[in-house]
Amino acid sequence: MYIFRVGVVGAGTMGAQIAQVVSYAGLPVVLTDVTMDRARHGMETVRRIYQARVERGKMTPEQAEEKMLLVSSGCDFRALQEVDLVIEAVSENLALKRQILHELDAGCAPGAMLVSNTSALSISALGAATSRPGKVLGLHFFNPAYAMPLVEVIPGLATDPETVNDIVGFAESIRKVPIVVKECAGFLVNRLLMSYLNEAVLCVQEDAASCKDIEQDMLAFGMPVGPFTLLDTVGLDISYDVAKILFEHYGPRMAPAALLAELVKNERFGAKNGHGFYEYEGPDTGTLQRLIEKVQHETGHRPMPWKPTRLLCAMVNEAVLALQEGVASARDIDLAMVAGIGFPKEKEGPLHYADSLGIDTVLAELETYAQTLGARFWPAAMLRRMVAAGFTGSAAGRGFFTY
Ligand code: NAD
Repeated sequence: MYIFRVGVVGAGTMGAQIAQVVSYAGLPVVLTDVTMDRARHGMETVRRIYQARVERGKMTPEQAEEKMLLVSSGCDFRALQEVDLVIEAVSENLALKRQILHELDAGCAPGAMLVSNTSALSISALGAATSRPGKVLGLHFFNPAYAMPLVEVIPGLATDPETVNDIVGFAESIRKVPIVVKECAGFLVNRLLMSYLNEAVLCVQEDAASCKDIEQDMLAFGMPVGPFTLLDTVGLDISYDVAKILFEHYGPRMAPAALLAELVKNERFGAKNGHGFYEYEGPDTGTLQRLIEKVQHETGHRPMPWKPTRLLCAMVNEAVLALQEGVASARDIDLAMVAGIGFPKEKEGPLHYADSLGIDTVLAELETYAQTLGARFWPAAMLRRMVAAGFTGSAAGRGFFTY
C-alpha cells in the first residue's frame, strides 16, 4: 500500500522529530496533540530542526520553507480522517495508548495503518484495543529521529505480514534503516544496550573503575559516547524504568544496579536536572562518591579488576540470547547496534566483534565472569555449541558469520 499522507499523534520530543523526518522525505504530515498550543509547540520544534539544517548549510531557507508547507497541525482526530498511516507518539502509558488506538480505529479510514513509537509496551496489547490488529505494529524511532538511521519494526501477534512489508517500505522511503524485530521486552536495541549500561553502573558501584576511566576506555573502543554520558542524557529515571521492565521480563540477569536506583531515589536524574553520574551545575560535591560508598556498604560488593570486555561480553551474551530466541538474524542484530547506538562501524556490531575476539575466548571470559561476578554472565547455550563444532570466529573462517 502506498502512503500518501501521514498523521502523528503527540507533538512532544519524538512526535515533532518524526513529523520533521516524514516531511523531509516529501510527504504531507499532520501533527496533533491534546491542545492546539501543544500542537503548535511541536510545529515550532519541526521548524527549529529545519532552521538548524539551514544554519549548517545543508539546505536553503527556501527549501526549508517548502518542507514546512508539508506540515500542518491539529488538536483532534478529525484532522486524521484522510491519512494512510498514523504514528502514535504520546507519553509511554499503556492505558493512554490503548485509548488513543481505540479512538483512531473509530476515526481513521478503514485501510489506515496505525503504528506506535512505544519504547517498551506490548504491540499485541495495543493492537487488541482496535478492530484492526492486522494493521497495527510498532515502529520505534531513536532520539534524535532526524539523526539516527535505525527504526525497529515490531509486528504484534496479530499483525498482517502485508502491514510489515508496507511499513518496511515506508521506513526506507523516509531514508531510515528498518530492522524487523520479534516482539520482546525492550525490543532488540534497548535490551542489548541496557545489559551493557547496567554492567557499567555495576562497575562504578563496586569501585572497579571511575566513570571517567570507563568512559575513556569505551570511547577508545570506538563507542560514540561513554555509558555514563549516555545514561545522563537519556535520563536516569527513564533508564531505571526501562531497567525495571527488562528485569520483570528477563529475571535476575537484568536486575537493575542498586546504584542506579539510589541515584534516582536521590533525585539525580541526569543532565536534565543538573545532577547524575556527572555534575552539570557547578563543582563536584562528592555526592556520587558518598552514594557509591553507601551502596557498597549495603551490597557488600568488592571491586574486581576493570576490563572493557566486561561490558562488551554482557552485550554480546544478550545478543546471542536474542539470536537464540529468533528476535532477529545475526546480520540484523549487528546492523541494528551499529545504526541504533553507534557500535563502532569498523567492528560491524557485537556478533562480528565476538567473531573477531574468538567465540572460545568469549565463552572463557563469560565463564570467568559468571564465577567471579555472578550468574548474570551465564553463557548463552549457543556459544558452547559453536565452540564444540569449531565455529570459533573469523580466525577459523566461521562463527556467527562466514569469512
Ligand atoms: P513527550 O512527553 O515529549 O511527548 C508526549 C506528547 O504526547 C505530549 O506533547 C503530550 O501532550 C502528548 N499527548 C498526551 N496525551 C495525548 C492525547 N490524548 N492525544 C494527543 N497527544 C497526547 O514524550 P516523548 O519523549 O516524545 O515520547 C513519546 C513516545 O515515544 C513514548 O512512547 C516514548 O516511550 C517513545 N520514545 C521516546 C524516546 C525519547 O528518547 N524521548 C525515544 C524513542 C521512543
